[in-house]
Amino acid sequence: MNQRIQIFDTTLRDGEQSPGCSMTVPEKMKMAAKLVELGVDIMEAGFPIASHGDFEAVDAISREFGNRDVTIAALARSTAKDVEQAGEALKHAKRSRIHTFIATSDIHLQYKLKKSREQVLEEAVKAVELARTFTDDVEFSAEDASRTDPDYLEQVSRAVVAAGASTVNLPDTVGFSIPTEYAAFIRKVVQAIGDKAIVSVHCHDDLGLAVANSLAAVEAGARQIECTMNGIGERAGNCSLEEIVMIFKTRQAVLPYETRINTEHLFSASQLLTSIITFGPQPNKAIVGDNAFAHEAGIHQDGYLKNKSTYEIIDPKSVGVPEGKLVLGKHSGRHALADRCRELGFTDFTKEEIDVLYQGFTALADRVKGVRNDQILALCKEIVAKRAPVSA
Ligand code: MN
Repeated sequence: MNQRIQIFDTTLRDGEQSPGCSMTVPEKMKMAAKLVELGVDIMEAGFPIASHGDFEAVDAISREFGNRDVTIAALARSTAKDVEQAGEALKHAKRSRIHTFIATSDIHLQYKLKKSREQVLEEAVKAVELARTFTDDVEFSAEDASRTDPDYLEQVSRAVVAAGASTVNLPDTVGFSIPTEYAAFIRKVVQAIGDKAIVSVHCHDDLGLAVANSLAAVEAGARQIECTMNGIGERAGNCSLEEIVMIFKTRQAVLPYETRINTEHLFSASQLLTSIITFGPQPNKAIVGDNAFAHEAGIHQDGYLKNKSTYEIIDPKSVGVPEGKLVLGKHSGRHALADRCRELGFTDFTKEEIDVLYQGFTALADRVKGVRNDQILALCKEIVAKRAPVSA
């Protein structure tokens, strides 16, 4: 089986529609340029029927990046109007994808759509057929797939593929699934549609399992992952792009899957997004958080300074972080302190001087959360000032 995983980025659509994340058209353009540089395969630019601004953003992105090595996607419910608007907004993109969806779970059919399974199946097929009149690349999503009767889902999947969909997305819309269950569920549809279409996943993080579920789905045969930078998205967010990509890269020996993401742009993509929306990743966020490559505990720092592989599984440079950051705090040892002094230009401290310096450092570290370089510099200068003057 093909081991190439398509990265479908939805930072500008699912991410953008969540609280604190709305973006203006120029902001979306800035982020889109970064996503193209990052090498995402498909960039979902918006939901054209949702608002004038969304239409404008998809249109502008299609004009600006429509000739680049990326597919531009737009979302549409399974109605003629939605699909037509998406087609119109995408018309300047050389490679465009209409992503049409309808809910398939009984909960959504009964309470939200008030439609029968037969009606939903018919609307899904019609929407895919109409979308194909605008582009050869049509994706169908069965909203709330993970809570849908698996036999009905298989029936819908076969029907939309027969109607011309080349990607079938089976989202865990409400973040309810767990890896073993989701894998079995994905495998059933992969077996049903064979190589006639790619099975895609779109996982939400309500139980903190979006990345784990996406990984389990890939091992079960899914070949597209929908994800976002910093994991932004509805409620608890989506599968985090930087995490899933770095899992494949770091664990190649057991996960021989390939993406074409230029991982050295991950950190700057995360930083750019943070500068546009109202919040950044939490400090302990994997890959892109402030502390992701920081080592504070003395034992860890000692090992890290002897050989980075003792406590570091990812080279920070491979994700665009300039260098491993050593935070000096009350857990730091003499070794880390001496190392920092050398970095600051104090290369000739004796063992006794380091001992004195260390006493001053720990007293300071007890009072503050992390010791800054300028504070260490001041301590170093005190030590030098105490040295006996050299006689002339
Ligand atoms: Mn979603």
